[in-house]
Amino acid sequence: MAKRIQSPSSMNTYKMCPRKYYYAYIKELASLPNIHQVRGSIAHTVLEKFFDQDVSGLTMENFEGSLTVVIQNLLLKEWQDNEEQLAKLGLSDKQRKFYFEETMLMLLNWLSDFCNLARTQKGSFSEIFKKITPIREQLFLSEKLQARGYVDAIEEINNELRIMDYKTSSSFDIDHHRLQLGVYCLLYQEKHGKLPDKAGIYFLKDKPKFMDVDKELLEFAKKEIELIHEKTESDKIEDYPKKKSNLCKYSTGQCEFYDICQKEE
Ligand code: SF4
Repeated sequence: MAKRIQSPSSMNTYKMCPRKYYYAYIKELASLPNIHQVRGSIAHTVLEKFFDQDVSGLTMENFEGSLTVVIQNLLLKEWQDNEEQLAKLGLSDKQRKFYFEETMLMLLNWLSDFCNLARTQKGSFSEIFKKITPIREQLFLSEKLQARGYVDAIEEINNELRIMDYKTSSSFDIDHHRLQLGVYCLLYQEKHGKLPDKAGIYFLKDKPKFMDVDKELLEFAKKEIELIHEKTESDKIEDYPKKKSNLCKYSTGQCEFYDICQKEE
């Protein structure tokens, strides 16, 4: 049987709960997104569009204030454009306000690091902005590994090539993202014939964190891809056991498949 194409997201879903993988990737059941997914997607779009801005009028003296307004306006617009989807989540006005403000703080936190980085570079602000603008939302697909992934940002900073992902989560342990970053590095290597120097996460509520790209990381990712391919050959529900945890139901939501999962063995 042809292997399914795996992604860091499908692999993490399998590891979290095989039954959830079955509902999402084999039965392909539609699921309602939750606020964390919707605002994560909004924040990603803001950061992607941020680098499309015309910064030709900005100088090293005034760029931070202007970019603060830019990012605020981008978030306002994206929030409004996602109004319909946000309304479907059934949040109270107070909760909506909370998530909007929290997302704004995350983006301003990221911007502060971006501005500090810009100040360490030489040249006019336009030159610096161009130099540190990443390649964004790049899709990598490997026939050999039967795996794919969208990389949020590929950047070259101080002669160091880095593969980066944005996260809005409240957990800041980069080791939780070892699988995702390892898969991205394998995909990058296959496409470009070389490895990035570093892989990392922009934790939007915290600071960016990095990991070395070494043989151990690549071997780990390769083994995990093989293992998930092996485990997901079957189409039968009984081969995907439930793995109950506090992610089935929690204070601010529940697993997208909670209701159907309760009805099935
Ligand atoms: S409700 Fe829990 S056990 Fe059921 S699919 Fe979701 S995570 Fe798995």
